[in-house]
Amino acid sequence: MYTVTLIPGDGIGPEITSVVVDVFEHMNVPIIWDLVEAGEKVIEKYGTPLPDYVIDSIRKNKVALKGPITTPIGKGFRSVNVTLRERLNLYANLRPIKSLVGLNTKYDNVDLVVVRENTEGLYKGIEYKIDDTACAVRVITKNASDKIAYFTFKYAKENKRKKVTAVHKANILKITDGLFLESIRKVASEYPEIEYEEKIVDNMSMQLVLNPEKYDVIVAPNLYGDILSDLAAGLIGGLGLAPAANIGEDAAIFEAVHGSAPDITNKGIANPIALLSSSIMLLDYLKLNKLAKKLENAISATVKDIQVLTPDLGGKGNIESMKNKIISFLS
Ligand code: ATP
Ligand code: MG
Repeated sequence: MYTVTLIPGDGIGPEITSVVVDVFEHMNVPIIWDLVEAGEKVIEKYGTPLPDYVIDSIRKNKVALKGPITTPIGKGFRSVNVTLRERLNLYANLRPIKSLVGLNTKYDNVDLVVVRENTEGLYKGIEYKIDDTACAVRVITKNASDKIAYFTFKYAKENKRKKVTAVHKANILKITDGLFLESIRKVASEYPEIEYEEKIVDNMSMQLVLNPEKYDVIVAPNLYGDILSDLAAGLIGGLGLAPAANIGEDAAIFEAVHGSAPDITNKGIANPIALLSSSIMLLDYLKLNKLAKKLENAISATVKDIQVLTPDLGGKGNIESMKNKIISFLS
């Protein structure tokens, strides 16, 4: 038995996490959930959206499944997501984007992974204002760049990927992105069997729209990685499908790429696949590979039935019909 921290989160978070809990129960997954609340609903009681018990639980269990968490704008709280990544040093954000066979989308041949540096860049949150001038400090360190570089190539090799594309804007940000590229290049030279190329982020955005099948593993500093992974999610049918893993040396948090989706909260139409696919990554991380494959197959079978799918996928169904269909393929 594994004990895994479960954070339902805000917005559609409780709806989609409950689908994962139900599906895992049907599959007899050997996981006991350690349920901890974070986000908007605990602010009043604890004075923060991220009480210490959340960090303590993840440190103890080392693995967490997390719903999206809203950070109230302008109330002085730092983003819970960013704080968790920083405090637990979850330096790599792994975001696989793969076309689902049978789902009618703009492309049917996408199979790429965005590896996003997860602890620095513009997300350090160092901002200040002097009179009418506002500044943000973009921090890139050799240490974090080396770590993401090694993570990327090790991942590429272990997962039989053929090519790594480093994304940057070093023509403008010569020192910061220059340092990032230096780290990636050095590690690339240690993996001669993996093809290596570099693309400037604006060009990369166009290339991804034109020829997504040309890309395999993409490594990028924090903000470019964030933007490109939403773009890539759009290629395969939207944010309702895109999973993510935040990985560090001592812990890992699995979550959907999307946010709390306040526009569809409590309407019963949130797509649970993004978080379910994150939970597949969690199963693989715990080496429960057979269960992971089983759930993957059930999702693949489900998306072929447009009737049961949520509206974001062009379906007429809802979260309930989707869950039931997935469960029907698990028996
Ligand atoms: P955050 O600031 O929390 O990241 P955001 O403003 O980036 O939020 P998201 O919550 O990611 O926005 O949502 C962007 C759009 O995608 C919204 O229209 C939302 O309804 C849609 N969306 C996100 N997740 C899902 C989902 N699981 N199923 C269906 N639609 C979704
Ligand atoms: Mg977002």
